[in-house]
Amino acid sequence: YSMLFDLAIIGKGLIGAAAARHASLISTPSPPNSTIPSSSSPPLHNICLIGPDEKPRNKWTEKDDIFSSHYDEGRITRRTDPDPIWSQLASASIDRYDDIYKQSGIDFYKPVGHLAVASPQSSDSLFKRRINALDQGVPYRDLDADELTVLYPHLKFAPGSTAILEDSGAGYISPRSLLKAQVEAAKALGCCQIIPHVASRVDNNVSDDGEASFVVTLSNGEVISAKRILVCTGAFCDARPLLPDGNGGHFELDLLRYTAQTVHFHVSEKDATDLLEGGMPSIIYRGDKSEWAYVLPPIQYPDGSLRVKLGGSRVDRYNNEEQFDKYRTPGTRSLPTHEHVVEWFRSAGNSKDFDEMKEMLQAMLPGIQPVKVTSDACATCKTSSGRPYIGQLCDGLFVAVGGCGLAAKSSDEIGRLAAFAALSDTGWGLDESLGEEL
Ligand SMILES: Cc1cc2nc3c(=O)[nH]c(=O)nc-3n(C[C@H](O)[C@H](O)[C@H](O)COP(=O)(O)OP(=O)(O)OC[C@H]3O[C@@H](n4cnc5c(N)ncnc54)[C@H](O)[C@@H]3O)c2cc1C
Repeated sequence: YSMLFDLAIIGKGLIGAAAARHASLISTPSPPNSTIPSSSSPPLHNICLIGPDEKPRNKWTEKDDIFSSHYDEGRITRRTDPDPIWSQLASASIDRYDDIYKQSGIDFYKPVGHLAVASPQSSDSLFKRRINALDQGVPYRDLDADELTVLYPHLKFAPGSTAILEDSGAGYISPRSLLKAQVEAAKALGCCQIIPHVASRVDNNVSDDGEASFVVTLSNGEVISAKRILVCTGAFCDARPLLPDGNGGHFELDLLRYTAQTVHFHVSEKDATDLLEGGMPSIIYRGDKSEWAYVLPPIQYPDGSLRVKLGGSRVDRYNNEEQFDKYRTPGTRSLPTHEHVVEWFRSAGNSKDFDEMKEMLQAMLPGIQPVKVTSDACATCKTSSGRPYIGQLCDGLFVAVGGCGLAAKSSDEIGRLAAFAALSDTGWGLDESLGEEL
């Protein structure tokens, strides 16, 4: 890869791949009299997307220390959110799912609907969702306790629970398939090269023509040069020195990583069919005190198994263990260093939390008899604002990180904003109205 790229995107995850597709779209001129980009014209920018492919867990070696938060088959997608910005990011992304499908031929979205449920004690949690939905014109239905029971007889929540149902434009996505779709769509435009390696470091450089640029050293020892760098490395943001500050040091981002564990009920075909025929949507549940959960309907996994997945917590057992941390979700623990993140990914989760989540899922789906129950460990990467960081750190160096456990569904819009920022002439206008302007 000896060429000089206009933009090197580091991190072939959900945000990086979305940025690669959008950067390719920006770089592919439309033929005269058409608004549809065509790969037959010379591209405006040469782009590369750097990052390793997913390795199955049983092939992980001692040396592997870069994993990803998208190694799964189900992520909830919904437009309603207590935060209006997350709601906008989601809606803008969901509106483009069909384009991504058409550009790639890869199906990743199941619009099975989304149900946000709250016990009587937690009904406030639905309030902000409603306000934002009304404000942004997101269609939803309020379900009272009786309607909830009648519509979803398979599902059990605390007595008196009520819900918001988004029955169109919401459901779940396969994050693996979305990633594949974004990469294929970017490749099809002809100006994005995929480099399947870990980036070991990024250094400042001066190109032959005297312009400032960057050198990226890859894990196989090869180097590439780029005029601009966009770093999208998720929970692995501090694993390598990728953010040179121009003074011999590196930028440190104010990011916090947390554990995220899920329990998977492997179910029989009959149980899966019953749940699917019962119209099971994706679910977020707020119970009493610190109880919360998200649940995905039956999904087929690559090994052929049909699984219902839950993540969440009933008793916040980590509350007293650590200093008060306002960014922490009940039941999760902070992962202060890269080593903690790696150890956690390898662990596949904690046994006490596994038992608790098993009980929670069984209580929510009392009619289901799992044939096997497994656990998975993943990590979230949170920012101090609770919203992703998308922007320029210094001349030519950009980031799009901090998915806050919410970004799978919204990765396309986050990637789009990052691509526009990284390829614009002025670098970046760090302004929340940017999304509307572009
Ligand atoms: C258990 C769990 C459940 C979740 N549920 C939902 C949900 O229901 N809905 C939702 O919207 N979101 C959900 N999320 C959040 C969502 O998955 C993340 O926000 C999203 O994956 C973040 O995208 P990203 O691109 O920042 O990170 P990732 O998708 O993790 O991608 C980062 C990429 O960077 C690469 N990388 C890292 N370092 C380097 C390096 N040095 N060189 C090259 N490449 C590198 C990694 O290989 C990885 O592919 C969930 C997350 C978890 C953990």
